[in-house]
Amino acid sequence: MKINTIEIGAFRMDGGGMFGVVPKVLWSRVYDQGDEKNRIPLQARLLYIEHQDRKILVDVGPGNKYNSKIRDIYDINLDRSNPDAYLSDLNLKRTDITDVIFTHLHFDHSGGATIIENGDIIPAFPNAKYYVQKDHYNYAIKPSLKDGASFFNENYVPLYENGMLELIDGDGELFPGISLITVNGHTKQMQLVKIEDNDQTFLYMADLIPTSAHIPVPYIMGFDNYPMTTLEEKQKWLPIIAENNWIAIFEHDNYNPAGKIIFNQEKHTYQLGEKFSF
Ligand SMILES: [Zn+2]
Repeated sequence: MKINTIEIGAFRMDGGGMFGVVPKVLWSRVYDQGDEKNRIPLQARLLYIEHQDRKILVDVGPGNKYNSKIRDIYDINLDRSNPDAYLSDLNLKRTDITDVIFTHLHFDHSGGATIIENGDIIPAFPNAKYYVQKDHYNYAIKPSLKDGASFFNENYVPLYENGMLELIDGDGELFPGISLITVNGHTKQMQLVKIEDNDQTFLYMADLIPTSAHIPVPYIMGFDNYPMTTLEEKQKWLPIIAENNWIAIFEHDNYNPAGKIIFNQEKHTYQLGEKFSF
């Protein structure tokens, strides 16, 4: 199995939104001070897995179908949002991708799934099958007002309508060694992706733990629909990741792509252990 991360460029989100009830005096020390608009830099870090005859992408970043207003709010860097650009680093073409797993359909995870060509919205990966949880898809097309502004139908409804989007029902193995774990605190039925490669297990954390600064249990995003559920999900998965020496992959961390998680007995908190880069 070949595993790579692909960093397709930075964007920014409100630091307060990213850290919820945690005061800025604390999160600014461990992550970033924020810019003059209080936005902190985030990465869109995709995962690329090559296994047997499959060439799989996990999430596809924000993409480039934005008007200037949205681009300005999130300071989206469009330089590498074009899949032709970031795939060429791996000597791949868009037509080579066989599968795209969406953790969930918020724009910063799904926007790159479709592109505009001659004024039409078309699949960015024409030979791929796309996957998302069924309950998440049904929620995404009729979201709550809380996270409704993060869903854009043009990123996934065209894929569903032309039969390219497969709706999955719950946890399980999608390909040998690649399995899905659903969580519900951030949004309905988001899926984490677990990859077992020989002796090492990787867990792509999606928005459950978007950066390594979000490892401590109370560091939960204000964006989450059900923060108490996120809290319970972190209390369940952090010990599993730490005790089994898994490598956690942080989709949005601008500074630390991945690493092990350890429990600090003295401070009684989980924290980033040995860092890992691909
Ligand atoms: Zn999200």
